[in-house]
Amino acid sequence: MITLTIDGKEITIEDGKTLLDAARENGIDVPTICFHEATTANAICRICVVEVEGQRVLQPACIVKAGAGMKVQTRSEKVIRARRTILEMLASTMDLSEADDIQAMMYDYGASSSRFPDAERRESEVKDDNPMYVRDYSKCLLCWRCVQVCADDAQYTYAINFEGRGYETQIGTFFDKPIPETTCVLCGQCVGVCPTGALKPKREFLLEQGMSPQEISVLNTGRKNRSKVKSQRS
Ligand code: SF4
Repeated sequence: MITLTIDGKEITIEDGKTLLDAARENGIDVPTICFHEATTANAICRICVVEVEGQRVLQPACIVKAGAGMKVQTRSEKVIRARRTILEMLASTMDLSEADDIQAMMYDYGASSSRFPDAERRESEVKDDNPMYVRDYSKCLLCWRCVQVCADDAQYTYAINFEGRGYETQIGTFFDKPIPETTCVLCGQCVGVCPTGALKPKREFLLEQGMSPQEISVLNTGRKNRSKVKSQRS
């Protein structure tokens, strides 16, 4: 066991835990976006940064191990300013309209969606190429959760990954193939972990487009019949 101080509170935890574990297990709130209990923490979004005495830069709580004698501040002025800026950059470049948790954080940190008016926005057409889910990468913040559950953290399918460099980085399939032509098994785990609505069940998408449950049912029956005919022919 080790002892450290978080926000002035002395905390004793098991050695090997992260600062995020230490805070949350002791009722101290640290916001996260890219972090998910089911995926490997990678400190991509940096919203969980905290101030550790003696460290020059803010530390991502999701990956930094708690150390004996550490003195940590989770809501210092520097931390709040950093989180606010991260949220403002996200809001300037992507569509957060369905990211309720992030919108709540923006309110909490007083972040303005118009702080960077000249920022280039991430634009993308909705990719509707399979019967299970649609992909709208204008809502994607590149948290990597979908890639992780598709790969070593859960499914071992490797249908999607990062592609492109720098500002052009996005999630995609190999050679931008439609989902049915990839190794995707339509397990839906990527949809389940997406924090922004960039990945959405097809049914939900069609309902939002104004289709009735009956129309969706007819659409699905037609699709099933087509695949039956296809398998009988082959
Ligand atoms: S599609 Fe969703 S889960 Fe995947 S990287 Fe983008 S925001 Fe994250």
